[in-house]
Amino acid sequence: MEKIETAVQKAFDKYPTRLEVLRELLKREGLEQDKNLREDYLRLEKGAEGEQDLVNYLEKYGEAHWVILRNVWLDFYGEFEIDLLLITRGGLYSFEVKNYSGNLELIDSQCRMNGHSIGQNPFSQAQKVPVQLKEMFKHQSRHPEIQGVLVFIGENNHVTIQDQVSGIQVLCRNELMHYIWQIARQERNYLGYPVEVDTVLAALRSYEIGKPSKEKEIPQTAKEYLRKGVCCCYCGSFDVKAKNGYVICSCGMHEPKTEAILRTICEYGIIYHEKNLTTTGLTDFFDGFITRKTISRYLNKYFERVGSYKGAEYLNKKKSIADVCQNFDLKESKYLKIR
Ligand SMILES: [Zn+2]
Repeated sequence: MEKIETAVQKAFDKYPTRLEVLRELLKREGLEQDKNLREDYLRLEKGAEGEQDLVNYLEKYGEAHWVILRNVWLDFYGEFEIDLLLITRGGLYSFEVKNYSGNLELIDSQCRMNGHSIGQNPFSQAQKVPVQLKEMFKHQSRHPEIQGVLVFIGENNHVTIQDQVSGIQVLCRNELMHYIWQIARQERNYLGYPVEVDTVLAALRSYEIGKPSKEKEIPQTAKEYLRKGVCCCYCGSFDVKAKNGYVICSCGMHEPKTEAILRTICEYGIIYHEKNLTTTGLTDFFDGFITRKTISRYLNKYFERVGSYKGAEYLNKKKSIADVCQNFDLKESKYLKIR
């Protein structure tokens, strides 16, 4: 299965996502004072996990030539997101993924989770997407078949539906494999003109927005009292020591020191993604783990210099080390040694 990105998504890739920033703040105790931000983080993390589960199912049970787009934000008479859009030769499948735990009921148009009504009705949310997509394709010469799918992917999610839910397919996790096989069967039996990925991208292009326009800024207060220093790349503990070229944690993780330093610079870059990198800012962030001179050496070697000689700044990559490590030419690997 091929994962592709739209041109708008590629442009937004230069910035960390809200979840990426919140993950870094969590590591450094930045979410402890802000209950809303913590809940926001948990919701995003759970959603991302659920979506990844769906991708894993599609990879395992789907066809190798299928193409997927993830997290496409569109504005078509209102903003909405497609969690995952599957493009097969036979049609489009827009997946809305809900990763709930507990008992979800849809009875008399009331949607309840463990007995409490929930803010956004996932059924009506999922029903809108294929309707909107069909409208967007109206001006294209060919109109692919579009199926909306709502997946309750949570392992511990029990779903009771008494109402008729029209226009979409509703699935629980244990039905997903068979449904993916059914998509493959529908594709094999499809006799029409094959759906072209470029046509799909062209239809979405003019409505794409990259992210919700009302996405809340993360308050600066959450960044004020962050824990400084280098943490373990495996367990997150700050109780690490540098020895023989490695950063060693009591959990057994041995990370090459060069990598740990670059990783921490990247973490800083995600948290302060609106700024360039400076020796002063990073010296404060490393909190004595390495000297100012070493930081300066790393910035000169691995990051692109911008600005004047005096107030030297370096281009912030704004991404985690996993996303940019190909630029760093790291030779040694980290390893876990459990005593
Ligand atoms: Zn550790």
